[in-house]
Amino acid sequence: MRRCLVAAAIVISTPLLADVNWVTISSDSNRRIEVDPASVRKEEGNKQVVLGRIVFDRELNDPRTGAYKSIEALTRYDCMKRTHTTLKRTWRSAEGELLREEEVRASAEMPVRTGSLDDKLLREVCRPKTAVAAQASAARLAEKAGDAAEDLRRANEAILQKEIDKEKAREKAAAKPIRKAAMPASEQAPDKVVEKVIEAVAKKPLMKLAGAPAESVAPAPRPRPRSRPASAKPVAPPDMAAARFHANVHWDYEGEGHPDNWSKLKPEFATCGSGKRQSPIDIRDGIRVDQPPIDFSWRPSEFRIVDNGHTLQVAVGGSGISLLGKRYELVQFHFHRPSEERIDGRGFEMVAHFVHKSEDGNLAVVAVLIERGVENPFIQTLWNYMPLERNRDVMPPGVAIDPGQFLPVDRAYFTYMGSLTTPPCTEGVQWLVMKQPVQASAEQVAIFSRLYRNNARPIQPTFGRLIKESR
Ligand SMILES: [Zn+2]
Repeated sequence: MRRCLVAAAIVISTPLLADVNWVTISSDSNRRIEVDPASVRKEEGNKQVVLGRIVFDRELNDPRTGAYKSIEALTRYDCMKRTHTTLKRTWRSAEGELLREEEVRASAEMPVRTGSLDDKLLREVCRPKTAVAAQASAARLAEKAGDAAEDLRRANEAILQKEIDKEKAREKAAAKPIRKAAMPASEQAPDKVVEKVIEAVAKKPLMKLAGAPAESVAPAPRPRPRSRPASAKPVAPPDMAAARFHANVHWDYEGEGHPDNWSKLKPEFATCGSGKRQSPIDIRDGIRVDQPPIDFSWRPSEFRIVDNGHTLQVAVGGSGISLLGKRYELVQFHFHRPSEERIDGRGFEMVAHFVHKSEDGNLAVVAVLIERGVENPFIQTLWNYMPLERNRDVMPPGVAIDPGQFLPVDRAYFTYMGSLTTPPCTEGVQWLVMKQPVQASAEQVAIFSRLYRNNARPIQPTFGRLIKESR
């Protein structure tokens, strides 16, 4: 082993720069490995220099340094040759005070072994910056999903119009001539017509999008332009009755758009009322088994946050999970207050839902319950960039978040088959609810409450559904 030359051993008391945004790459019970994504500097020949650090769970001591809590290292990674070179090491106290600094002059270029920590770091810094690419594809996806939703809306309106016409013809046939003369056709007891149409439509299989709807799954969609291209003529409401049927009541958690009314607001929301595998549920009586671990590949990336009128929703790039060998990409995550799901009747302060989608359109949602406790750095970064206005997304350049940092240490989970908890309440969603909650401070919860005091759908009946849990 070659020895590195120590150029200087300086002791100065500079506090740790407050604006360093450390993200965790890996952690165990003794230490945490973090990097500062903002420090990544590209050098010639596909080399990257990055500042990383090891934070120990307790203070360590050595005669030259004294009591230290973390070691920072400036390292050069050669992405092509797969080597690493330490350029500088810095020891810091628990308070972040700089204790000792070593400039490493003789550049020992060490090979990076597969599976080692350096391998992890190398992959991290050599990986193309996914957030930018993700943003572009997210915008495309949102556009595509928006078009699909538009087609769906038109198809359903056509069905609705047909039913209205049929119903009117029946009414007309039954109506007395004098009444017919006194009242224009379009105003014939519209509510009665509408009621019948609702009944008829509820029985009809409506057209559904493959997979899930745009508003639930599209990553933080941008506000859609008001005017559509000239070739796609806007669809006028079929008539007064239909207009009243749609009534422009948006789904909500209170008032006219209350969860009990969701199924009546739009034909495509019918499942919210008739579904037998709806979410959320009160999780109890789970079958305790050795569950396959969820293979998380949640990675640090830049993010986009939007207040979509129902929640704060965040899109990131390059993260996903594998479950029994099947890959699901993280499409978006968002928050509810209080938690929608309960465990043995117990509710939580908040919950974060990480919505994943497989290539063939299956959905898997990881729920991370949040209880009141210490401040959560992951949530704090998001709240720092909380949008000022609805439907205007914020994408802070150069700021990364690491969803992996937000996961509880214990990866045990409950799983059951359910639905989206927002209209259209699409079923066939596999829920993965982490058993161990994470913490957020009272202030952080209060900040979210300023926007959404209650955005949780009430508990749905399980209809004897099977629930499994890690033992
Ligand atoms: Zn949710």
